[in-house]
Amino acid sequence: MNLSMSPAAAGQAVKLDRLAETAVRVGLNLRKGQELVVTAPIEALDLARRVTEHAYRAGASLVTVLLSDDEQTLARYRHAPDEAFDVAPGWLYEGMAQAYKQGAARLAIAGDDPRLLSAQDADRVSRANRARSKAYSPALELISSFAINWTIIAAATPAWARCVFPNDPEDRALEKLWDAIFSASRVDGSDPVGEWTRHNAALARRTATLNDRRFHALHFKAQGTDLTVGLADDHEWAGGASTAKNGIVCNANMPTEEVFTTPHRERVNGYVRASKPLSYMGALIEDISVRFEAGRIVEANARAGADVLRKVLETDEGASRLGEVALVPHASPISKSGLLFFNTLFDENAASHIALGQAYSKCFVNGDRMSETELAARGANRSLIHIDWMIGSGDMDVDGLDSSGARTAVMRQGEFVI
Ligand code: ZN
Ligand code: ZN
Repeated sequence: MNLSMSPAAAGQAVKLDRLAETAVRVGLNLRKGQELVVTAPIEALDLARRVTEHAYRAGASLVTVLLSDDEQTLARYRHAPDEAFDVAPGWLYEGMAQAYKQGAARLAIAGDDPRLLSAQDADRVSRANRARSKAYSPALELISSFAINWTIIAAATPAWARCVFPNDPEDRALEKLWDAIFSASRVDGSDPVGEWTRHNAALARRTATLNDRRFHALHFKAQGTDLTVGLADDHEWAGGASTAKNGIVCNANMPTEEVFTTPHRERVNGYVRASKPLSYMGALIEDISVRFEAGRIVEANARAGADVLRKVLETDEGASRLGEVALVPHASPISKSGLLFFNTLFDENAASHIALGQAYSKCFVNGDRMSETELAARGANRSLIHIDWMIGSGDMDVDGLDSSGARTAVMRQGEFVI
């Protein structure tokens, strides 16, 4: 510790180090001899270095950190030829997939500027995202199927802090965002590992209750929402810690408050209104409302970012169907903070949500051992995208329906009652 630091700065440094250590020990549960691939925005270099240090202390054989820079991303939109927006660094993603196949773990540090691309041409943004999603999909498949242990944590960056705290000077905004991250990630006490053990146990009890009930569908009711989400056959609820196929128990998201499962791609009906704006790849989509028929979105509206939303829905056939449904109590710590983070890692843990696109094979009983065809036969959706958007609020009721239509109250006024 540097003696010239103010007590507040010294406190921040201790928490930053705890976040790095908890990410390595609980998020990844990194094993001796394991390789680690880290991605981070350049502003999160300090956290990336601390992660690297704790990874080597835990016995990592090699840590490779890949940094991204918003200015370089914007330079592309300003100066690259139009045809260049269908290009992605496939060689890099192939290398990542190769690393995971050879047993490397993966840690992502999120800290993106939620508005980075909001002034850019929606068509170019969507083409670039599409090319990237396609090139990334073999590596992403290994991550989302939990072939390896992985985790995502967050770092406060100036641009992100400005979005969350627009009325504060930059230094103060940054400090407030860091505090919110430390608190939501449960590293602001002296025993974060113990905190996470207790939190994981509580989420495991909740998933066990829902798995015992084997609901056929969930019914969501709130102002602007009357939605029935049929659940996939053999669906399984997940939440908190997961056991990856390499046998390592990891926490894929820090923070996490959700329990989630797989909807049936053809059994979603009704209408739903988003309860928070959705920040997607630098664009902000506000006041989303959509109508589903037989699992597919047949009507989509948004007050802002509607063009981006429509492009997203056109990505592929599965992009207008659901791949995830998640329940989060309205009293979750992130929800209670009252902040809108413009970042899915946080906002999805402040409210019940649904996700467009790809389903998780781990949200099926024995899903790890099922082929694509077997998963599809049970109702799993497939898509290049997976986008969570928030529908929960303090006035939302959720019922579980069995196959005869009998109802059980699951949530009332946003809180679990089951
Ligand atoms: Zn989720
Ligand atoms: Zn999701």
